Formats: sequence, C-alpha cells, structure tokens
Amino acid sequence: MSKTNVSDAKTQEYFERYMQGVEKRNPGQPEFVQAVWEVASTIFPYIADKPIYHELQILERMAEPERVISFRVPWTDDAGNIRTNRGWRVQFNSAIGPYKGGIRFHPSVNESILKFLGFEQTFKNSLTGLPMGGGKGGANFNPKGKSDLEIMRFCQSFMTELYRHVGEVTDVPAGDIGVGGREIGFMFGQYKRITNRFVGVLTGKGASFGGSKMRTEATGYGAVFYTQNMLGHVGDSMEGKSVLVSGSGNVATHAAEKVVQLGGKALTMSDSGGFIHCADGFTFEQINWIKDLKEKRRGRISEAAEEFPNIKFHADAKPWGVAADIAIPSATQNEVDGAEAAVLIANGVKLVAEAANMPCEPAAVEAFMDAGVMFGPAKAVNAGGVGVSGLEMSQNSARISWDSVQLTQMLETMMKNIHDSCVEFGGEPGGKINYLKGANVAGFVKVAEAMLAYGHV
Ligand code: GLU
Repeated sequence: MSKTNVSDAKTQEYFERYMQGVEKRNPGQPEFVQAVWEVASTIFPYIADKPIYHELQILERMAEPERVISFRVPWTDDAGNIRTNRGWRVQFNSAIGPYKGGIRFHPSVNESILKFLGFEQTFKNSLTGLPMGGGKGGANFNPKGKSDLEIMRFCQSFMTELYRHVGEVTDVPAGDIGVGGREIGFMFGQYKRITNRFVGVLTGKGASFGGSKMRTEATGYGAVFYTQNMLGHVGDSMEGKSVLVSGSGNVATHAAEKVVQLGGKALTMSDSGGFIHCADGFTFEQINWIKDLKEKRRGRISEAAEEFPNIKFHADAKPWGVAADIAIPSATQNEVDGAEAAVLIANGVKLVAEAANMPCEPAAVEAFMDAGVMFGPAKAVNAGGVGVSGLEMSQNSARISWDSVQLTQMLETMMKNIHDSCVEFGGEPGGKINYLKGANVAGFVKVAEAMLAYGHV
C-alpha cells in the first residue's frame, strides 16, 4: 500500500511492522487488511506519544475479532432442489456495548468482507455516542431473482442457526446490502418463534412490531446532513450543488431525496447494470418511482430511462465521469478507484462523502486528499443508519415510540456531533480538517479507553 499519514521514521517503522503482522495473520483477506490499514495509518501517529497503547497492545487486540461464527444455511428452492449457502456472524468488538451491525446477503460475501465491515462498524458505532459494539454478518446468498417464498425459507434457515448467538443485550443485527424490511421481518418472526421472546433482537423492524420511524431514511439522510456540516464548516451549503449518487438502494435513494430537499440537484443513480443520468436533477416523483422500482418491483435501474424522457441510461458504466460539485458513493466497497478519482478531480468535484462502506479505494482517498477535495469517510458519513438503529434499541428497551419529527431532530444532532468530533480530532496545521484522521481517532479513543479499563481481555 502507498502513502500514509505516518510521518516520523520510528512511527512509520512500528506501523509497517504492525501491518506485516496483520497481513500475515489474515491471508487472502484484502478488504479486511485495507480497512485496518486505513485506520492504523491515522492511529499510529496519534498514539506515538502515548506508550500505554503500545504496551497494552490495544491496536493488536482491536484488529482481532472477539469471535467469528460460520455456519451452514441449507434451504429448498421453489423447484424442490436443496441448496446450501454459508452464513457468518463476526462479533468484532463489545468493549462499549453489545455487538451491533448489519447482515449482508450478496454472492460476494466472504470472511474478509465481513471482517472489514465489522472492524469499521466498531469505530462507526463509537462515533454515534451510543453504547454499541461492532459486528457484522451475512451469507454468500444471491437474493436477485429469488421468489418471496425462497427468501423466506432462506431467512428462516439463517436465523435457525443465528438465534443462539444473538440477543437484545448480546448482539443486535440489522439490514445491509440485500437485507431490508422484508428479510428483517422473516428473521424476527423466526427468532420469536424459536425463543418465544418478543425483544429488540434486530433493528430495522416493521413499524407494527417494534421498528423505529426514520430508520429507512436514516443512512441516506444522515449522509447528507453530514455533508451539509462539512460544507457549513467552510461557509458553504447544499443549495444549488450538483451531486453524483451511485447505487439505487435505501441509502442512495434517501441521499438523493435529502439533496433535493436541501436545494441541491441529484444527477445520477446506478445498479450493477449501469447508471442513469438526469441533467435536470431528479424530481421527488422520479426518486419515489425509483424507490418503488427497487423495493417493491425489484426491477433494474435502466427501466427509469424507459419511463422518464429526461433520464438517460449508460450500460455497464459508473457515474464518476459526469461533472458535478459533490460525489456521494452509496453502492458498495471499492467502487471508486484511483483513475475514477482523477476524473472526478479533473471535472472539479469539491467534496466526496462516502455513504456506502469503504467505497473509495486507498488510491482514490489519497488522490482526493492531495487535490484538496474535502473527503468525508464512511464511518462518520453513514453512521446515521446505525445511529437510528441505536435509537430503535432504546425505544424497544423502554417500550416507547418516538415520532418522525423527534427522530429527525435526533439524527440531525447526532450527525452534527459526529462532524464536530471529527473536526476536533482531525485538525491539521493551517486549519484544514482531515476528516479521515478525525473519524478514526474520535472512534478509537472511546473503544480504547474501555479496553484499557478492562485489563488484558
Ligand atoms: N448496515 C448498516 C451499517 O453499515 C447499519 C447497521 C445497523 O443498523 O446495525 O452501518
């Protein structure tokens, strides 16, 4: 890997030795190594004059999940064939609360991806200010093209194993790519049936069985609130800004919606088939149509171009070639590489906010930083999703339900607080803010403090 934030020679040497160890202990897990590298490159300089963290091996312990559970998920498809997938739950760090993090169903899911996501989640959850540890789970199951009954049978089989490892004070999963309200409903129903307990074991639940208002909107809205805070910090705003959004799931559609609500123009969205471009900026009607297409009809983004004359579809391409002021990658990990970052920079992008988890490759992050593009890292930008999940846990424990106005206000305040902690820990000489450093250090401090208090565990 290339350049780091590590400056002096001794710190650089410690960092390199540490990363060699991480690579050696995690062969064939490039995404996980990448996530640790990104955090450690900012934490080593921070702890250079704090020997206690070295003596007590805090970073070594943080890079080792407390527990990784892998299990068989057998299910029967509509044709009567028996199918077998692999499921996992990575219980990464419980220093500051029960493990918390989503479940991803996607054919690309493997242990490396879930460890990267669980590691990131630990720092993200700490940034929210709520008592949540970090975890992540999923299966290498492809929901695309599956019937509702196949999805139900898969979710029930997945929970039939997972139930023994989770609980409202142990580990509280939620959704992620491929897991939304439908899947959470099936899994919650199966948990309740097996255990005979009605508890807040999952978040992202339906409104009639303990779900929180605003959870669906939270990640996308939160990402734009965070972006607004970054712009506000330099005396600017979302008003009149053109924004590239990738993806077309829950995060992307709600990010686009909030951009438009705040007076910006959302120009693009995408899926694995290509991207759509609306030079006029999407209207609320178009965004709602896309939400319906993806959530209910489970269609392809290309269909939007057939429905609306001012929307153009570009097959097998990503939106990063379109000129805009802001980019909010909201699809998946490593969706912006160094070359794509160079195109964005050449086209004059001023701010990149990661709404997906780790969507920018290290070379892209480095290019943005070198070019002076404001860069908002995922663990801060997209923390609003898990933040409202934390509020769902509170509502479930207290058996109460807050309304949308209260929750939107809480989300907005949470995103401002996260932004301000990143500013506090991310200041650089000359007054610039390194949000990557700020998010990593602010997330690290709280988890590290708890681990120090617990002794050698
Ligand atoms: N999967 C989401 C994330 O990456 C949300 C997790 C949750 O709500 O627990 O943060």
